[in-house]
Amino acid sequence: MENQVLRNIVKQLAQTIRKQDFLTYFKKISYLGEIEGVIVLGVVSAFMRDNLTHKFGKEVLEAVKLFVPEAGNIEFQVDRNIENPSNSLVIDCIKEYKDLSKKGKDEEISIEEEVGGINARIINDKYRLDNFIVGPSNQLAFAACEAVTRRPGSAYNPLYIYGDVGLGKTHLLQGTGNAIKTRFKDKKIIYTTADRFLSDYVSSVKKRTVDKLKEKYSSIDVLIIDDVQFLANKTQTQEMLYNIFNIMYESGRQIILSGDRSPRELTELEPRLKSRFEWGIIVDIGVPDFETRLAILQEKARSREFIISQEVAEYIAYNAYSNVRELEGILNQIIAEYELHETPPTLENVSARMNRNGMTNGINLAKSKRNSTTSYDELVSAVSEHFGIDKKSILGEERQKEYMIPRQVAMYLLKNKMNYTYERIGNIFSGRNHSAVLYSCRKLESILKKDQNLYYEVNVIRDKLGL
Ligand code: ADP
Ligand code: MG
Repeated sequence: MENQVLRNIVKQLAQTIRKQDFLTYFKKISYLGEIEGVIVLGVVSAFMRDNLTHKFGKEVLEAVKLFVPEAGNIEFQVDRNIENPSNSLVIDCIKEYKDLSKKGKDEEISIEEEVGGINARIINDKYRLDNFIVGPSNQLAFAACEAVTRRPGSAYNPLYIYGDVGLGKTHLLQGTGNAIKTRFKDKKIIYTTADRFLSDYVSSVKKRTVDKLKEKYSSIDVLIIDDVQFLANKTQTQEMLYNIFNIMYESGRQIILSGDRSPRELTELEPRLKSRFEWGIIVDIGVPDFETRLAILQEKARSREFIISQEVAEYIAYNAYSNVRELEGILNQIIAEYELHETPPTLENVSARMNRNGMTNGINLAKSKRNSTTSYDELVSAVSEHFGIDKKSILGEERQKEYMIPRQVAMYLLKNKMNYTYERIGNIFSGRNHSAVLYSCRKLESILKKDQNLYYEVNVIRDKLGL
């Protein structure tokens, strides 16, 4: 098999398998040969072999068939030489994945869109009302946006949202634009920022096309202008907006605005424009409380398919309290850290990072808040499911290698996260004695220090159980 074929297969898998699983299970793959239509792929360990076969056998076969149509089946085998690229066509899947996602990012930056002849910022569909987390700090603003999406132009016109930087104004404005777009397919919507509005205006003055620009703006159904404080002292641009505002308002078309202050406090704006801003509804956004911050963080992590344990998420949400952008900044950093160095977020490394950024007040609320009601049976089931090894084998006495790690993980979690005694764990695991359990727990601890991958998997299980 050509190296390129294997590479294509891996790229295909990166599209179909969840990112986190991909990074966990597809560390390295090699091609070992083909026997009677069975493609044999090499992996690093028996553990990987069993997991891959069990969990992703189907996906891998499908991907292989795309590029090797004559393949009848696939099989994984441990490849002792996998680290030695001259012996096999080894693909470092993680590297491959990173290249792929880098490319994806470059392609994302198309922001111009023609709406009724105006270059407007494309509304980003990652900002939606359905992924905006509602809490006491923003529920009025959210409700107003929802009302506007139901009856644009008549519910609240204009809608003016204000609040400090990083609290979700842009998200709400764009989310509202997206929702109107979905609901009313043929409405023409423009989202722009005040400084872009300003520069459009300035260039139309230079080109002597001001009337045309005004006409175009006035022909749209929904005008969204973000950050109107940037119009401060720009009297001619304000005048232009004032005219557009009047035309739109009189014909019942929706205007949505945001600013960093209430209209009243925008002292550098012309009084008549300010008073227009006050005609409809004015709502503010405040700093989200702990619960809301936690929910936002979890939503952002989920949307990026990144898993953070409850403990770490609570720690971040507790300490990143001034705005949401800060919260996201930390999340971005720990995801980058994981992708570059495969270091999963732990309480220790995250708090060290936040300390370096000057973001902690030294209180760890997360630890004291936990309160687990998981039973040992639920734990063993979760371990069994995760590793694809049946419960009987985990609890039993067989000393096969494949069973050892899952068994040790289960014991370790019972001891360290659920406070079971060694005796009690021994009873659960076929009546082992105290020192056998102690040995297993210690053994796993030392493995976890070296094996980031396994460490990560243990965190996945903990997260599932809220441990
Ligand atoms: P602003 O425009 O007020 O400065 P943004 O809308 O740019 O703030 O918000 C900053 C980041 O925080 C964005 O990525 C946004 O998605 C996120 N964000 C803020 N509030 C929420 C929320 N309630 N739910 C989900 N994400 C939020
Ligand atoms: Mg903004």
